[in-house]
Amino acid sequence: MFIKMSMIPGNKEGIVGKINIKEGSIVKKGDVLAQVETAKGNRPVKANEDGIVASILVEEGSKVKTNTMMFELMEESSTEKIDEVNKELKKSIKKETDLLIIGAGPGGYVAALAAAKRHVKVTIIEKEELGGTCLNVGCIPTKALIKSGEVCHSARTAYQFGIKLDGEITVDLPKAVKRKDDVKKRLVNGIDMLLAKNNITCIRGVASFVSDKEVKVVSNKEEMLISAKDIIIATGSKVATLPIPGIDLPMVLDSTAMLSNTTLPSSLTIIGGGVIGMEFAFLYRNFGVDVHVVEYMDTILSMFDTDVCQEITEIAQEAGIHIHTSAKVTKIQQSIDGKAIVNFESKNGEQLVISDIVLSAVGRTANIEHLDLEKSGVIFDDKKRGIAVDHHMKTNVKHIYAIGDVTNIMQLAHVASHQGMIAVENILGNDKEMDYHAVPNVVFSYPEIASVGIGEDEARHKGINIKVSKFAFAGNGKALTMNEEKGFIKLVKDLDKNNIIGASIIGPDASSLIATVTVAINNGLNEEDIVKTIFAHPTTSEVIHEAALDLGLGALHA
Ligand SMILES: Cc1cc2nc3c(=O)[nH]c(=O)nc-3n(C[C@H](O)[C@H](O)[C@H](O)COP(=O)(O)OP(=O)(O)OC[C@H]3O[C@@H](n4cnc5c(N)ncnc54)[C@H](O)[C@@H]3O)c2cc1C
Repeated sequence: MFIKMSMIPGNKEGIVGKINIKEGSIVKKGDVLAQVETAKGNRPVKANEDGIVASILVEEGSKVKTNTMMFELMEESSTEKIDEVNKELKKSIKKETDLLIIGAGPGGYVAALAAAKRHVKVTIIEKEELGGTCLNVGCIPTKALIKSGEVCHSARTAYQFGIKLDGEITVDLPKAVKRKDDVKKRLVNGIDMLLAKNNITCIRGVASFVSDKEVKVVSNKEEMLISAKDIIIATGSKVATLPIPGIDLPMVLDSTAMLSNTTLPSSLTIIGGGVIGMEFAFLYRNFGVDVHVVEYMDTILSMFDTDVCQEITEIAQEAGIHIHTSAKVTKIQQSIDGKAIVNFESKNGEQLVISDIVLSAVGRTANIEHLDLEKSGVIFDDKKRGIAVDHHMKTNVKHIYAIGDVTNIMQLAHVASHQGMIAVENILGNDKEMDYHAVPNVVFSYPEIASVGIGEDEARHKGINIKVSKFAFAGNGKALTMNEEKGFIKLVKDLDKNNIIGASIIGPDASSLIATVTVAINNGLNEEDIVKTIFAHPTTSEVIHEAALDLGLGALHA
């Protein structure tokens, strides 16, 4: 079956952008195979069936028109046809290793490095790019583009700092995307080098279990059977979608497609006001785009304390982001001029918002695709929607571990890496447990938000005897020099245990400031330990000192 280019308005030509698959790739219905840049914006070309890519009929940079045949798919279920695609496969090669890791994201590659440094013979398998979601379509690319957004905002507000910029400030999105890709490439190459330097065998291909001790790896050219003493599953997560009518429309993008979008829309609707949705909301707003966020819950970023949510909502609204909460998207339609009409139900009844493109940011699900997990005996917990593990990161099968997003415990890169290190310790026979009581959580909104430990709302809900201190960035000299006086820091102290158990920061440098409080919480420190520490002046870190003072004497600059 052939996948053709969908309708390009005015029968104009489009240019093929990034092709996401290779010949032989296994794809699922709805997977984005490539992006095509048209005068009306980027159009994803999606698989309309599950199957195997038999041939790629276009090249990146080539021109296509409506109905140009772009890909040939074969049925995945037809073993004959799979054999046809794999006809160049060499005979199965057999290998042995001590530790086999499936997936080279921040969970898998960090575990590989940690094990190799302890002289374990490690083999890591990756079906796409090294670095996983984080480096390729997650943490790093978003932050690179967010920086472009902040530069744009700085240019627009430069006059406030006495700097005159002559001429119009425009966004060169293809250049920003290229810069993002360059940053990503440098980091991906860096991982390649690190793996080589540490004598880690890296195999490219799709891994699936044959038994609890053996894994088959299929690449375009060869098939391998690898047996291992221990195995770590680090296959991450994939974009989740909601069964909303119209979610397949070409102008509806997911976060991955959005990161390669090179056409600046004049308006954007974001479904989902969670971390990914709000990072894109501030990013595109900083580019000057009209942004609407439609969120099902009664607040955006509902994982944070109520006062943090209120503060960021006010800041977002002041910045011109339209926020619709308690709003359920019911359908998406395409207008005759190719715009997206997002319909939603809210307390104000049926409403709609029209925009050039839509970002669907409704979360990610554990990725066990292709793994044939049942052949390993490992249990996937349907309730927790991840591979079930204990605090040692062990699955129900003694020598198989799972780490990172595939466990669906906390979908954060630093958690995946830490879990990877804990798994390696246990493989080495050292009894180490994961401790989640001081995991920092950051949103790269504008300003940033960060929290760690137990928040005020959760502590009150649990009936913990707490004292809370708060200090506003408006009282911090450095924040004022930066014109970034919005936001506050809040510390939560457990009065019975006499230590700080949680913190929230919304304001400049929140992503870095949270590290200091994380060290304090992780080590059971209290406000006196912080107060007796000298913080450099003038820095935003002084808010931590002030908030600690506020738990005792009282903040000096409030
Ligand atoms: C837009 C976005 C922004 C984000 N921003 C942040 C952030 O700022 N901070 C943060 O902490 N987190 C962020 N995250 C989340 C973060 O990217 C993930 O938590 C992290 O990447 C999880 O790491 P992992 O190693 O578990 O999985 P992944 O990074 O998903 O890596 C899994 C790897 O396994 C490979 N794989 C899967 N199946 C197979 C198979 N069968 N055979 C071989 N290889 C396989 C995949 O190709 C992939 O490379 C963001 C995510 C997104 C989508």
